[in-house]
Amino acid sequence: MRIQAAVTRARAAPMSLEMVDLAEPRDDEILVRLVATGVCHTDLAMRDQAFPVPQPIVLGHEGAGIVVKAGRFVSGVSPGDHVVMSYNSCGHCPSCRDDEAGYCHDFFGYNFAGLRPDGTSPISNGGEVIHGNFFGQSSFASYALCHPRNVVKVRKDAPLHLLGPLACGVQTGAGAIINALKVGVGDSLAVFGAGSVGLSAVLAAKVVGATTVVAVDLNPERLALARELGATHTIDGVDPDLVARVAEATGGGATFSFDTTGAPAVIRKAVDSLALRGECGTVGAAPLGTEVTLDLMGLMTAGRKFRGIVEGDATPQVFIPVLIELFMQGRFPFDKLVTFYPFDRINDALRDSEAGKVVKPVLRMTVS
Ligand SMILES: [Zn+2]
Ligand SMILES: [Zn+2]
Repeated sequence: MRIQAAVTRARAAPMSLEMVDLAEPRDDEILVRLVATGVCHTDLAMRDQAFPVPQPIVLGHEGAGIVVKAGRFVSGVSPGDHVVMSYNSCGHCPSCRDDEAGYCHDFFGYNFAGLRPDGTSPISNGGEVIHGNFFGQSSFASYALCHPRNVVKVRKDAPLHLLGPLACGVQTGAGAIINALKVGVGDSLAVFGAGSVGLSAVLAAKVVGATTVVAVDLNPERLALARELGATHTIDGVDPDLVARVAEATGGGATFSFDTTGAPAVIRKAVDSLALRGECGTVGAAPLGTEVTLDLMGLMTAGRKFRGIVEGDATPQVFIPVLIELFMQGRFPFDKLVTFYPFDRINDALRDSEAGKVVKPVLRMTVS
């Protein structure tokens, strides 16, 4: 079928809106008509070749839409169902068998290869192969093919056009706090970077009853939004006494800290801001080969922990419906992070996101 897609053809260049061909769903694939799709930092990083994803490619990995057709081996979703599309995974490696699919042994192959596992792409135009299947979806398009492992059925009374960001950015921030770090009642948390992931962490910290939530960022508007969403303290990231300020706010150090920047100097401060036996998690994407320096004796004698987290340790089919339930109850207002754009203004959305003008752009489809 002919679909409209935003094709990335060159590094760091605007995406081009084109009509291309999408293959019929295979027996184990699901055809989804996109209603909206979030834009995640990873899409920008892939456009700019932070990882060597092949081009031309259709990016996008926070899709929300309606099932049009499900292959005959697909169970659990049927035409008409509302779904979001999350990250993909193999389903049979040791991590997937442990319900830790964010650490799938073939995470790169299933999400970044731009091809199906058998080496084909479902997207083409005339004789030209266009890479697809990005995060098992390639959602910067009017239609996408996804898979039983990354499709999440959602309740029909929830506003579907808003739900895409739950599939990656919001799941990453909220899942880091709830599933990975397991922040609880009375804990203190310092969040480094108040973008969509960091602010989702702030929202989650409030849900689980953390009593002190410190947000650190360079952008005063984002710090103001962090306060509105539940941060009890905010600190300017350039403050030379940042670590001391966190200690002051948390009564001696944070029980948890969370880095969303991937910047080694920030990670150092996030670990140094911990209380005795505190734990720091990072989700920041950094160029391959980036190294971080930590104070070893500070880590060892204080019993501190430092760990990486992918996709909030979330099993999407379990976690995303919980976030939607909390949103519908008014307890998880992630809609305050979202700015809508029509799909054909995708390059404006990317530019505004890079400039820090918007927290979470969501593209609404204008054609079907
Ligand atoms: Zn796996
Ligand atoms: Zn993402």
